[in-house]
Amino acid sequence: MTKNNRTTSIRTASGRRLAGVGLAMAALVAPTVALASPAAAQPATAHCGTSTGDTATSSWTSHAEMAKELRLLASQRSDVLDVTRIGTSNRGREIWAARTGTGPKVVLVTSEIHGNEKTGTEAVLSLLRSMTAPTPEAERLRSEVTLVAVPKMNPDAAELDRRGNDRTWAEVVADFPQLAGARPAWNYYTRAQGGDDYAARPGFDVNRDYHPNLDYVPQAKDFPGSSAGPGWYVNPESQAVRDLYKSLKAEFGAVDSYVDLHHQGPCYLDENGEAQVTMSLSGKFVDVENHQEYNRGYRLDYSKQLTLAAFDKLSAYGRSPFGSLTLYPQDIDLPGTGLGSFALNGSGTVLFEVRGQTQSWGAKQRGQLVKTVEHGLTGIIEAVGSGAAQQIDPDRYDEIPETAR
Ligand SMILES: [Zn+2]
Repeated sequence: MTKNNRTTSIRTASGRRLAGVGLAMAALVAPTVALASPAAAQPATAHCGTSTGDTATSSWTSHAEMAKELRLLASQRSDVLDVTRIGTSNRGREIWAARTGTGPKVVLVTSEIHGNEKTGTEAVLSLLRSMTAPTPEAERLRSEVTLVAVPKMNPDAAELDRRGNDRTWAEVVADFPQLAGARPAWNYYTRAQGGDDYAARPGFDVNRDYHPNLDYVPQAKDFPGSSAGPGWYVNPESQAVRDLYKSLKAEFGAVDSYVDLHHQGPCYLDENGEAQVTMSLSGKFVDVENHQEYNRGYRLDYSKQLTLAAFDKLSAYGRSPFGSLTLYPQDIDLPGTGLGSFALNGSGTVLFEVRGQTQSWGAKQRGQLVKTVEHGLTGIIEAVGSGAAQQIDPDRYDEIPETAR
């Protein structure tokens, strides 16, 4: 969700990245970072005393490879899996949704809204394989929940291995002529930032483009906006997920749960300053008192229960990296995020933040981190399906260790 450690690498002319220019870049991006993520700063030289990972992206599933894999799985398991195109990115790439299960409760999962945060996509693909398998366990889960996953929801950013999408303000105005003369959105990147040349190829942080009013139409007076306010659905990627959310809400009456998969800096420590954090979790993204006009059944306790379902599943692996979990900072109020907007619409919402963004951490610990995300998702799906989530004491949420600050 954050991009605090994006200051440790730059690209060379050939497109490869180099480490070690952290401080100068940090100064450049600091004002934006302060707005975008009031919490969770991490030192720029964030490799935890070890070397950086291999930052080539070839070991990660590309957009084309993902489409191939989804098609193959859909053909093998056509009786239980539907793959449909729910939209098109600004540069013309398909945005796919995979759906399995016939249960009455919908669990919606999205990954790679930030294109340099890639484990979620791998975890979703693995989860789809296990959820569609002809096993009694998978059959039971499919009877209890309907899983809808949008892996790599921001494919243009994913292909560029960067946070922002690939879209200019002029393209926004072309789509929304009423915005001619308005100041560009505050989350529009036009400068070199975090090792990416947004000056040459501008883009938006799509995860600030959501609005809790799912029918909101962009108006010039609402720009440039700020992190404390909603977004506008001026990007095709957020529009696609919003439209999917609305259709699921119409079909099921409610979207029970929504999980958004992210990465954070690689070197956070737990509250004792001892263990390195494998993943931070959160169920709180907005201060609901500030957004009562948009409150459509906000359920913070349910979000806490779902967060604990993931926490408990991973903690059951005992003293292992799976159990090295902390709570993501709770002092955030971001109604322009997908999580914030959908939470205000009544969904239980959970954020996963595994360690290490791709452009500095590479594929380091990839297998471990992908499994961490997958196990956490499975914990939530099982608890939603069985109803066990609602039996969890939400007050235990406060016992999840904090991240060292
Ligand atoms: Zn992110």
